[in-house]
Amino acid sequence: MVPALLTRGEPLRHIRIFYKDKPLAAFDLPVPDGAKPVMIGLPQSDTERILLKQLASLDVIPTWNTHISSVSQSADGVSAVSESGETFEADWLLGADGSRSVVRSALGIEMEGSVYPETWSMIDAEIPWPWPDTQASPHLQPDGSVLFFVTLGEGRFRIIANRADVQARAEAIVGINKVFLSDTFTISLKRVQRYGEGRIWIAGDAAHVHSPVGGMGMNLGMEDAADFITTLTSGGSAADFAGYSERRLAAAKRVLRVSDRGYRLATTTNPVVRAARNGAIKLPSALGPAQRWLMRVVFRTRDQT
Ligand SMILES: Cc1cc2nc3c(=O)[nH]c(=O)nc-3n(C[C@H](O)[C@H](O)[C@H](O)COP(=O)(O)OP(=O)(O)OC[C@H]3O[C@@H](n4cnc5c(N)ncnc54)[C@H](O)[C@@H]3O)c2cc1C
Repeated sequence: MVPALLTRGEPLRHIRIFYKDKPLAAFDLPVPDGAKPVMIGLPQSDTERILLKQLASLDVIPTWNTHISSVSQSADGVSAVSESGETFEADWLLGADGSRSVVRSALGIEMEGSVYPETWSMIDAEIPWPWPDTQASPHLQPDGSVLFFVTLGEGRFRIIANRADVQARAEAIVGINKVFLSDTFTISLKRVQRYGEGRIWIAGDAAHVHSPVGGMGMNLGMEDAADFITTLTSGGSAADFAGYSERRLAAAKRVLRVSDRGYRLATTTNPVVRAARNGAIKLPSALGPAQRWLMRVVFRTRDQT
């Protein structure tokens, strides 16, 4: 599946940072081992198509439009009942049913944390992009607002603002040819304290939610799911699943911390912190220590030196 994602995705190789609509810095993202890109831009529809193809190759056919309203477990198995009254039985259940997870609620597990006060908005759009060598571009403002452009390939961009008026903000900077989808939302910084019990476990946004800074949410959820499968196929004892919960909790704590730190730095209104941040970003070296640190916070790269 990874080769298909890498073939279709647009590698993020060059980033341009703006402050008050003026260039602050531009630099290449490091490419580990010169092989795979650190990040790719890919429309969700393509990600879903590739995932469905992978499922089909394993003879798995998803059941669509079936809302699970309750789940329960015994020593021998699990059962899930849909809103229409249909019952599904299995040996194990992994609830990857998003931040309002029915599965998590059935286990009595709470999401703990906070909600960022801002209303966010996003669009996927075709835009006359003026920097063809650049695939990602944060536009920072002194009032703490941020507009972030990232390529989805083939001339499409995802544009996200931590304000409600992303389209107007993007239009003022680059213009917009066509909008494919738009949304407004709030962002939470929350996670569970445990990932399940017995035969029912959770993964993805059912267990953790955070800001889009760093683009880590879906990736973290996929890592949860991969770890769950390894745990199940390598024994699936109670101790193995306790290990699943511990490992994924540690990963979620790390990602939430990094994402929150990156968001607070990008949106600071403190003039001293802002000056230090901007000064560090525009240090003259091609990829100096400050930029490498920023890359670690925002793009999850590891230092290659
Ligand atoms: C603006 C924005 C930008 C982002 N950018 C990135 C990025 O660049 N990279 C990245 O890795 N992540 C990114 N994320 C995060 C990413 O979108 C999420 O982390 C990811 O979609 C979570 O996937 P999930 O499957 O866990 O949950 P969801 O995407 O919420 O999917 C849950 C699914 O379960 C179904 N469901 C829910 N309840 C039930 C039920 N009771 N019965 C049956 N089905 C049910 C839903 O219909 C849905 O299909 C971004 C998020 C936002 C808001």
